[in-house]
Amino acid sequence: KLLLKIEGLRAQIDNKEIIKGVDLEVHAGEIHIIMGPNGAGKSTLAYTLMGHPNYKVLGGHAFLEGENLLEMKVDERARKGLFLSFQYPEVIPGVTVENFLRTAKNAVDSRKQSIIAFNKLLKEKMTTLGIDESYAKRYLNQGFSGGEKKKNEILQMKVLNPKVAILDETDSGLDVDAIRVVAEGVNQFANKDNAMIIITHYKKLLDYIRPDYVHILKDGQITQTGDIGLAATIDEEGFAGVNTN
Ligand code: ADP
Ligand code: MG
Ligand code: MG
Repeated sequence: KLLLKIEGLRAQIDNKEIIKGVDLEVHAGEIHIIMGPNGAGKSTLAYTLMGHPNYKVLGGHAFLEGENLLEMKVDERARKGLFLSFQYPEVIPGVTVENFLRTAKNAVDSRKQSIIAFNKLLKEKMTTLGIDESYAKRYLNQGFSGGEKKKNEILQMKVLNPKVAILDETDSGLDVDAIRVVAEGVNQFANKDNAMIIITHYKKLLDYIRPDYVHILKDGQITQTGDIGLAATIDEEGFAGVNTN
């Protein structure tokens, strides 16, 4: 089943075209990896799909389960099952992990859950990730390690249960623990009905997960698509070594 279809997508930020014609089809049950040099437009692609107001679509199409994604408002995209993980870099005073996740959940679900039902769901998801109960009561990002911040993103994904989850890994500072948190989350979350797009330059992540496709994004275009072997080539030769013809 085709979940996300992107055709000739072009987008700009700050009057500069960054995404220069991206085509991508993502079916249920698939894990896609997007790799590419810094500044290639990976994050821009993710933000454009989510409808971030700073990114302007210049052309092309995107469909989420056949519906025109680019015409949807941001909150509608989330309600229809598109998810982009992002880290709040700052501590939000007085907001606990639990408050934060409940607010996010209520924003995407048409039916509002009772606090009791939500807490039950949260506890269940935390257990599957091996997260201690006390974590839910902590203030968001206050004193969190890299691994704990990652746990929050993965927990958010599991609680929201999107159809298509996009994980955009930051370019620096993920330690091996944090990479394992991401990998475990991906492996637990992925099933035959959903799909994941993981943007990363951490080749290490691919030691723990089994993607169906690896794409190289370079200068705003997907220049090559392959399997996990493509990632190995990059590791040995760098992005310059990848055939882009
Ligand atoms: P990647 O995620 O592949 O490293 P980005 O999508 O973050 O790349 O950036 C692609 C290009 O867009 C870069 O040249 C970057 O400088 C530019 N860019 C990204 N964000 C902004 C912004 N907020 N304002 C202006 N230019 C930006
Ligand atoms: Mg970058
Ligand atoms: Mg980026």
